Amino acid sequence: MATALLNLLDELQQIVGERGVLSDANELRVYECDGFPVAKGLPSAVVFPTNTDQVAACVKTIARHNMPIIPRGSGTGLAGGCVAFGEGVLISTSRMTKIEKIDLKNRLAVVQAGVRNLALTDAIAAAGGGGLHFSPDPSSQRASTIGGNAATNAGGINTLKHGVTTNHILGVEVVMPDGSIVQSRATGLYDGIGPDLPGLLCGSEGTLGIITRLWCRLVPKPKHFRTIYAVFDSTYNCCKTVADVIASGIVPTSMEVMDGAMIRVVEDAFHYGFPLDAQALLLLEIDGVDQVLEEQLAAVTDICRLNKAMDIKQCSDPKRRMELWSARKRAFGAIGRISHSYCTQDACVPRSKLPEAQERINQIGAKHGLKITNVFHAGDGNVHPILLFDEEKPEEVQRVLQASQELLEYCISIGGALTGEHGVGVEKLHLMPKMFNPATLDTFLKIKKTFDPEQRVNDGKLIPSDKLYIELLKPIAPNTPGGAS
Ligand SMILES: Cc1cc2nc3c(=O)[nH]c(=O)nc-3n(C[C@H](O)[C@H](O)[C@H](O)COP(=O)(O)OP(=O)(O)OC[C@H]3O[C@@H](n4cnc5c(N)ncnc54)[C@H](O)[C@@H]3O)c2cc1C
Repeated sequence: MATALLNLLDELQQIVGERGVLSDANELRVYECDGFPVAKGLPSAVVFPTNTDQVAACVKTIARHNMPIIPRGSGTGLAGGCVAFGEGVLISTSRMTKIEKIDLKNRLAVVQAGVRNLALTDAIAAAGGGGLHFSPDPSSQRASTIGGNAATNAGGINTLKHGVTTNHILGVEVVMPDGSIVQSRATGLYDGIGPDLPGLLCGSEGTLGIITRLWCRLVPKPKHFRTIYAVFDSTYNCCKTVADVIASGIVPTSMEVMDGAMIRVVEDAFHYGFPLDAQALLLLEIDGVDQVLEEQLAAVTDICRLNKAMDIKQCSDPKRRMELWSARKRAFGAIGRISHSYCTQDACVPRSKLPEAQERINQIGAKHGLKITNVFHAGDGNVHPILLFDEEKPEEVQRVLQASQELLEYCISIGGALTGEHGVGVEKLHLMPKMFNPATLDTFLKIKKTFDPEQRVNDGKLIPSDKLYIELLKPIAPNTPGGAS
């Protein structure tokens, strides 16, 4: 190991202790990727601070050694955002797990950035605030951190009605790339003074600094629900139902779709009782005032029938309802049963175009010789085609990247967005110019450079950089699926 790196490790150990720094090549393998297995890179080291002052001291030290810095939460991201490409030190928040305050009266929680999403909900319940919760609920909520949720502006199953992470963050504390500590709106009250720093930091994917503490809004849990699932003989009809419900003016809490292959994977893993011959399944929940829910339920049921639902089941037993949502949330985890590796794509399309988009996405998969299965937050217009492949086969990896590019470009071309919730990371960086004009991209880069003039923190992710470009995609070879033949 080079002397300069040894010196850096030594200085970092003085800040966080010997057990707070990893540099052994085998141990570093754990940190070579996130949930996007296509983009891999070994960091030079991983450091585990336990508080903001340690983060600030680590940042200053790493900067003095002129090394890149990459913030990392739990590594559940799906766009390669927390991976080091070339040399760089990962600053992990996984030991910053203190819930500092739960203030039920003022509906506020203050947490360190490494607190897991579900851990906060559990702690609120334990503090006697069972009626309140932190609403953002990404399906990764058992593992992903609130800092990571804010950095990616995570969505989830109930964000259709209740909003994404940025709508629930009142304030942030951030260690800037020069090691200074900035706090915004940290009083717990929405004061609206000055630029909206939490808004800017939410969704910045670790490119502007390291979030160390968050002031989280707590909101009442909905008390009354109606939950149904409807099965269809085609994803087209299922997605048409979603589009029609949105067009009707009803805003459900959630509208989640699984295609036939996904239904069978989930059923095989969790034995909920889904029909194995269905080609698509819609999970739909509405919440609100009990008296109006019956009327809304009748309206959505009618829409399901008009779109030829084969069966519609109401799920009124609370235990069965929990099982239903648990099966949905664990769907991604079950894919390992059918594929060695998978790449979860993520884009957004106008809801009215969901039915045709879903068909086109599957055609693109077939063109590139890839199996695609789908499970997605359809109500938000999110699409999550999951491309199945074997990461040991480089040619297959390239086909995954080609197919991903084609389907993302298609979604943008029909008025959609490059990402629905997983972010841009390194994965979609090359497609940012398809989404934004040069003046907009230039503005993003100017914001980045205002926070981070040396472009040290997570450069080459989210915002096209004038310093660093990480190339994942190679030119398509002739005579391969998707290539010229
Ligand atoms: C099974 C599964 C289901 C998922 N479901 C959803 C879903 O429903 N909705 C959704 O939106 N996403 C989902 N995701 C994606 C992922 O869980 C989210 O993006 C999550 O918010 C990432 O949190 P993390 O702590 O794992 O962050 P990481 O993966 O560690 O990092 C993600 C990005 O945030 C940055 N970052 C992390 N922590 C900080 C910090 N403290 N300060 C500054 N930057 C930071 C990193 O640099 C990186 O760019 C899912 C992923 C999996 C594997």
